[in-house]
Amino acid sequence: MTWQAAENRYDQMKYNRLGRSGLKLPAISLGLWHNFGHDTAHERKLDMCRTAFDLGITHFDLANNYGPPAGSAEEAFGEILRTDLASHRDEMIISSKAGYDMWPGPYGEWGSRKYLIASCDQSLKRMGLDYVDIFYSHRFDPETPLEETMGALDHIVRSGRALYVGISSYNSQRTREAAAILKDLGTPCLIHQPSYSMLNRWVEDDGLIDTLDDLGIGSIVFSPLAQGMLTTKYLGGIPEDSRAAQNHFLKRDFIRPEIIDNIRKLDGIAQRRGQTLAQMAIAWVLRGGRITSALIGASRSSQIIDCVKALDNADFTAEELAEIDLYARE
Ligand code: NDP
Repeated sequence: MTWQAAENRYDQMKYNRLGRSGLKLPAISLGLWHNFGHDTAHERKLDMCRTAFDLGITHFDLANNYGPPAGSAEEAFGEILRTDLASHRDEMIISSKAGYDMWPGPYGEWGSRKYLIASCDQSLKRMGLDYVDIFYSHRFDPETPLEETMGALDHIVRSGRALYVGISSYNSQRTREAAAILKDLGTPCLIHQPSYSMLNRWVEDDGLIDTLDDLGIGSIVFSPLAQGMLTTKYLGGIPEDSRAAQNHFLKRDFIRPEIIDNIRKLDGIAQRRGQTLAQMAIAWVLRGGRITSALIGASRSSQIIDCVKALDNADFTAEELAEIDLYARE
């Protein structure tokens, strides 16, 4: 039987405006960095995308290099679009990025016009799309003039490959420079994608959140669960099927006893608030309404269902925030 999207899919999710733009994103978005490569069964990927869409998650975030192997997450997502979601294309915001190592030789990474445009074309082909909604420069390239990188983003929009553009992990100063160049070109910088969580507050220390407010740029923050550390999954050791067990991006060494002690304290606060630690971690990045969307990852649908319930209790008292600060500082 063909799959039908849930009729009530827009009843629970909150949609926040991206900066000073016409576009809204769901408060919680799904990223396909992990668990969408050849290491995961297609049925599981399909189930996660269906579950997310049914819960009102309209935004799916990809990049050229997501896998493993690089490119396979976009291929898997293309297949899911073809079989299930294509008829909902206009209800979806699909993003991709280029910046990290993708193919051999001097033209397969960083920020040249050559790389960005070729990579965008490859991503469109892998996903079977005519355009992506958002295309990002995945990281600042210290050796390529910013005018060239931003010029490539502008061209990607003007040539119809993307509707909007964004930048990822640029610091406050580079964000101001990039936004000014894009403004002059007539293609506004829609969105910034930095990392942010209770355990990783560089966007506060760097002044990036203030900069984005000032410039009217929206924000989607990646790894709000610190790759799973801000959940209860590591309280009893490292489960075999967890990201830390892979010891790749989330190292086993990160799961230190003193961190786990603090995570247990944070879990105590979450329990008092009547939510899971994952839910509290997501509510925390969204607190005060300055962040447009929390960009989570998942290895199974039940995690997405759990995370979306964060919106049921998204307010914090000053006392709760102060207590969180006692335990959530690296
Ligand atoms: P998270 O911090 O949300 O970590 C996701 C992991 O947390 C899951 O894989 C799972 O771990 C665990 N998890 C999720 N929900 C729950 C739950 N309810 N209960 C228990 N455990 C849970 O985000 P990611 O690090 O995955 O990043 C999210 C997205 O951000 C990426 O997919 C990508 O789109 C984007 N990103 C962008 C980057 C950039 O440079 N722009 C860099 C990194 C990410 P497990 O797998 O162990 O079950």
